Amino acid sequence: MKSLKLIGVFAFASFSAGIQAQENMNKNIENILLAEWQGPYQGVPAFNQMQVDLIQPAIEKGMEMHLAEIAEIANNPEPATFQNTIIPMEKAGEPLDRAFTYYGIYSSNLSSPEFRKVQKALSPEISAYRSKISQNEKLFQRIKSVYKKAQEDSLPPQQQRTVELIYKDFEMNGANLNKADKARYADINRELSQLYTKFSNNVLAEEENYVVYLDKSQLGGLPESYIKSAATAAADRGHDGEYAVTNTRSSMDPFLTYSNERELREKVWRNYYSRGDNQDEFDNNEVISKILKLRDERVELMGYDNYAEWRLQDRMAKTPEKAMELMMAVWPAALARVEEEVADMQEIADKENKGISIKPWDYRYYAEKVRKQKYDLDSEEVKQYLELGNLTQALFFTAGELFNFEFTPVEKGSVPVFHPDVKVWEVSDKDSGEIVGLWYLDPYARQGKRSGAWATTYRSATELMGGKPVLASNNSNFIKPAPGEPVLVSWDDAETFFHEFGHALHFLSADVKYPTLQSGVRDYTEFQSQLLERWLSTDKVINKFLKHHETGEVIPQELVEKIKKASTFNQGFATTEFLASALMDMKYHTTDPENIDPGQFEKEQLEELGMPEQIVMRHRSPHFGHVFSGEGYAAGYYGYLWADVLTSDAAEAFAEAPGGFYDKEVAHKLVRFLFAPRNAMDPAEAYRKFRGRDANIDALMRDRGFPVPEKQ
Ligand SMILES: [Zn+2]
Repeated sequence: MKSLKLIGVFAFASFSAGIQAQENMNKNIENILLAEWQGPYQGVPAFNQMQVDLIQPAIEKGMEMHLAEIAEIANNPEPATFQNTIIPMEKAGEPLDRAFTYYGIYSSNLSSPEFRKVQKALSPEISAYRSKISQNEKLFQRIKSVYKKAQEDSLPPQQQRTVELIYKDFEMNGANLNKADKARYADINRELSQLYTKFSNNVLAEEENYVVYLDKSQLGGLPESYIKSAATAAADRGHDGEYAVTNTRSSMDPFLTYSNERELREKVWRNYYSRGDNQDEFDNNEVISKILKLRDERVELMGYDNYAEWRLQDRMAKTPEKAMELMMAVWPAALARVEEEVADMQEIADKENKGISIKPWDYRYYAEKVRKQKYDLDSEEVKQYLELGNLTQALFFTAGELFNFEFTPVEKGSVPVFHPDVKVWEVSDKDSGEIVGLWYLDPYARQGKRSGAWATTYRSATELMGGKPVLASNNSNFIKPAPGEPVLVSWDDAETFFHEFGHALHFLSADVKYPTLQSGVRDYTEFQSQLLERWLSTDKVINKFLKHHETGEVIPQELVEKIKKASTFNQGFATTEFLASALMDMKYHTTDPENIDPGQFEKEQLEELGMPEQIVMRHRSPHFGHVFSGEGYAAGYYGYLWADVLTSDAAEAFAEAPGGFYDKEVAHKLVRFLFAPRNAMDPAEAYRKFRGRDANIDALMRDRGFPVPEKQ
């Protein structure tokens, strides 16, 4: 199906001058982290030669080189064209990109106190370097001139979109402002970045300052593994012989789920949901007010009504109204489900003669009792059928069926790795044998590796850069087994394994001309990987790969049914706590901040929405880091739901097809419209080409076990 495009030779011929300059530069490079990659697959990172003390000089030199290239583009006396402005911009900064590949490994996979020092020293330098590009007036005028011409006389589609994305990015960051406004804009950003740091430091302080210590008599209901880690956490804090419930989600959540001690549950719950809201030096309410006012002032300089309007213009949702419309369409069903969930829980509490009504600190505890009663799912039993080696083969099988990819392990030692546990596979097209790229897998937890699972690329493929093989990687934190022992993972972790592999496939299948088109759209990029999770529970994967690690017996159908049924469990709670946060995020960024007192505002708005008294926002405002400790998810928290709508809807396209999840025609469209174009096509348009219509929420409602709204 998908075959890798070969080099666009014409692009190289006409820019030989640029290449010559590049080659001269390469001769001056001594730092191995900046050097061109050598070896097979048109060069691979020299992970076997990197050193922490080479990082800072490499990044500094790389930034300097990139800025020199940018200056040359900006100072070109010729009238600006796509060829003499956008193309060289797209090509610039290659040595720096290489240095950042190593930087990324040290920050995520191999961190150390030594590296963190480097990171701290580099962080202001990196942000200064970025502003030097985004505030380069001459450069922007050239981009603007290419953009203006393209608005009158369109370029070929991928060129047109590249110019538009680049121009938009500059424009959204204030490039069109006059001198005085630009100065104010820069001041606002400086103030904001200090407030973001303050916000997250306050939350951190509150997590450290409120620890609940338990004695032996207070452990009722808690699992053995929790007790062990609580004992360690207490000892670490000088409380030997006690047990610490720390003020973090990973400690709070299981405590509220399992502890029989209702008063302690309430205490832990109050500590957690009061973070940043204790009317003391770490209180975040005033910080929020300041952030909202500054954000509003900043977008007003550029002529926008509110922050959300500015933020969403290049997202798939496009406007705050569209995002609100989606959230409010799901909200009533979530509330109705909460009522049912609370009734189920109350019944159990009444049977136990507890004489209580369900409070927020009871929700997880009684929900767990309902779960046991209704679904009787033993997660240990499920694990016996989820062995890492088999799951890896399941990924390859799925990629083979959908993308026509074949995965072959590379010869040991032929491709350098940064740790002996990292394995590498060659990815090729099943029919043509053409090489698509490499897939690196770093499976196990270790000290200095960040938690969770993620995907990244060391090199993306674009026609402009010669279509070199993609170098994609997946990273997990499975516990490394003793030699000869299997790695058994939970159902959730197996889903995550598929999810991250979905990101890798998104990189590997990219078919775009210019690097800018590789970029992501926040409410869209999670969708492809969420969708890939669905293949874990398809019949073919189950029958071929979900086998008992000792007996080889396929996972029993009734166990699979239980897993599927349990997936709609507690969706009232999950959807409501999420939506309450997402709705508040949007309300904060569409309301005039002069009138906002966060404590008051949160209370009033939730009341108006009919928030059930048994649930709080997943992230209450004073510790809503997604939104207030930076801008990553500000006016963007709804994006998770947006991507979920697409996921459910696209999954039904497969379910309805004659060949189901392995239908060749739907798979072909999936790769062609939803994976390969990345950001080369407007996401809404790409989706329409895949589905023949826009996504609607019906499939999502079915997936969550909610009633599907009637057609108007
Ligand atoms: Zn993801």
